[in-house]
Amino acid sequence: MAQALPNPSIFSATLDLDAHGKHFGHIRIPHSRDEAGLGDLMVPIVSIKHGDGPCILFLAGNHGDEFEGQIALRNVAHDLDADGVSGHVIIVPALNLPAVLNNSRCSPIDGKNMNRIFPGDRRGTVTEKIASYVYDELVQRADIVVDLHAGGTNLSCLCYAMMHRYPNPATSRAALDLMKAFAVPYGVVFDTEPDRDGMLDTAVEDLDKPFIAVELGGSGAVTPQSVAITARGVRNVLVHTGVVAGAIESGDVETEIIGVPTRGFVLADDHGIFEPFVDLGDVVDSDQVVGRMHSIHRPDRLPIDHHIKDGGVVIARRTTGLTTHGDYLFVVGVPLDPGF
Ligand SMILES: [Zn+2]
Repeated sequence: MAQALPNPSIFSATLDLDAHGKHFGHIRIPHSRDEAGLGDLMVPIVSIKHGDGPCILFLAGNHGDEFEGQIALRNVAHDLDADGVSGHVIIVPALNLPAVLNNSRCSPIDGKNMNRIFPGDRRGTVTEKIASYVYDELVQRADIVVDLHAGGTNLSCLCYAMMHRYPNPATSRAALDLMKAFAVPYGVVFDTEPDRDGMLDTAVEDLDKPFIAVELGGSGAVTPQSVAITARGVRNVLVHTGVVAGAIESGDVETEIIGVPTRGFVLADDHGIFEPFVDLGDVVDSDQVVGRMHSIHRPDRLPIDHHIKDGGVVIARRTTGLTTHGDYLFVVGVPLDPGF
């Protein structure tokens, strides 16, 4: 029987999300343009449903220039045997399809960052329409949502999972357990986010459903190691939730829980070319000089030192030299007892 949803989408998909078995299809987002006055943007989707169990929604390509999740989810879609599933696995491997095709963070059609426009707008731009379908049809069905990211073209990240603290401690604990099951070296608990509004995270968290995002590498590159960690983590989530049988494979990784205070974000003090002194995984001391900004036009001027505020471990850093005033250069995490 079809699941009752609070506000079903006006858009459709070429597969039936209530059908049992494994189905590959596409979400159809109307996209009238010069090249095709009548046409749909076809966003890939996979539904694997069998037996009783939770519904897990996996997404990648929220940002088009992040690849580990896009690859791992395609492999999982092929490898998962529907008969071995207890529950429902929904996979969207290229969420912002136009951005994926353009190898860019944001959509080249409307310039929108998918992760700042949730819960979307069914009468909005193309990106907002995709988001509205995902929110109305997929997030509403899901018991758990896992969004796979990487640093993108300009940023590189240690492999870490992340969550936000929920008002409900039980949901916080459920998300924490998902991070640990994913088996990446660090799990970040954010109390808040500098740019929280419109994130998929926020839209799911406001429904009190467990949500984790994972950051896996970056610099617009993809490595065998980062893909392997991603694939292992996705499978571990399925095992942890009882959707597939088996044992968690951690590779002896024990996830260390850390926090990122507001002071953990190091911003560029000026426009210029940034020279980093520290790298991912480095442990830095409070007030340590972590890099310096060179003036492009005035090499006679001394470069500007950039300091870390509180010591910790570098979990993300900007990898593009050319930098604008206000760009984030480093993210530094500190050990955290989340208290839930
Ligand atoms: Zn991303």
